[in-house]
Amino acid sequence: MLTQAQMLGLDDGHLVAVDDRQLEAQTAEAWQALVADARSAGFTLGLCSGWRSFERQLAIFNGKALGTRPLNNRMGDPCDVRIMSDADILDAILTWSALPGTSRHHWGTDLDWYDAGVLSPADLKLEPWEYEAGGPCHELGRWLQPRLASYGFFLPYRQALGGVSPEPWHLSFAPVSVPALGQFDANALAEQLDGADLALKETVLAQLPGLIERYCHRISLP
Ligand SMILES: [Zn+2]
Repeated sequence: MLTQAQMLGLDDGHLVAVDDRQLEAQTAEAWQALVADARSAGFTLGLCSGWRSFERQLAIFNGKALGTRPLNNRMGDPCDVRIMSDADILDAILTWSALPGTSRHHWGTDLDWYDAGVLSPADLKLEPWEYEAGGPCHELGRWLQPRLASYGFFLPYRQALGGVSPEPWHLSFAPVSVPALGQFDANALAEQLDGADLALKETVLAQLPGLIERYCHRISLP
């Protein structure tokens, strides 16, 4: 069971180190078993993203909102925050990045994988084509798919459901993350965001219940 502080990315006491990342302890154990299984099949299953703090997610969000980081629209084309409404900026950010406090990466139960035997992390763009037929991570993905469930993992963003766009690289450890989503506390999130140095704060807080429904609860379950 995760605490509210852990769910919001404010506490890292439940994490263990995996390579140069951090994961929730049970998730780390299952991940390492899956990595070993992949190795015996000739694959190098790589971890490109594990736990992420609230502060880190806040920096990503604010950078996109303020135009100091590139922002793409829903179609994937670059857009200019100087000529957009706050609501449109928020929509574009949340298509690709989580609102601070709502990222499943805060929990330590979720991670992004890639084929480390085929490409280096610097060459990885985390774009769907890399995981589709002909892409560098496709062969490992085909090996992984039927094995994920036996290690407790699932793909919460495997389909387009109108929330987070499909992310074939994003895995979640169900034994911890499914109960965590069930105890997601919208009031604790609202309080945390209200006290943070958050860009677009007024727009975010006004839309918060809808954003939580769309970007937290609208996932593919195991
Ligand atoms: Zn992810």
